[in-house]
Amino acid sequence: MNRERIYLGLGTNSGNRQDNLQRAIEALSLALGLPAACSSFMESEPWGFESKNSFLNCVVAFDTHLSPTELLCTTEDIERRLGRTKKSIGGQYSDRTIDIDILFYGNKVIKSERLIVPHPLLHLRNFVLQPLHEIAPRLRHPAIGRTIEELLAELSK
Ligand code: ADP
Ligand code: MG
Repeated sequence: MNRERIYLGLGTNSGNRQDNLQRAIEALSLALGLPAACSSFMESEPWGFESKNSFLNCVVAFDTHLSPTELLCTTEDIERRLGRTKKSIGGQYSDRTIDIDILFYGNKVIKSERLIVPHPLLHLRNFVLQPLHEIAPRLRHPAIGRTIEELLAELSK
């Protein structure tokens, strides 16, 4: 079976944030194999909700045989094991030990009940585009048709 290049967006704003990202990357590497690329860690302000705790974010790329649904199960399992207890409810965001979002799954466009890929907000979030730009500036968004470089330039206008 073919492997697909996937990009995951990681974020944390509670506990030891550096540790949380590192432990998530380790757990992902055990499940998916070594990362193809990993961005640096970037500090960002809470997006979409009020909190005094700022975020640490990064983007990690892997090549995987897992299907999109299997990948979501894997990332959710790691979120739980790293101590994330609640999901966002009704679009309400909250402090979290670790959030793992599937940003891209190859060139696939997926819209199922559990999974929307590319992640629907990625092109609006500097804390996603910035680290993504570090590792994949020429990657093209399969639905919007723009590269990460172009999306970042547009967001910064
Ligand atoms: P958020 O990441 O927006 O803070 P959660 O991590 O609590 O919210 O996820 C809420 C739901 O989003 C999950 O139950 C999952 O099924 C769904 N979801 C849809 N698309 C994606 C995606 N691309 N990556 C991760 N989760 C997704
Ligand atoms: Mg999430």
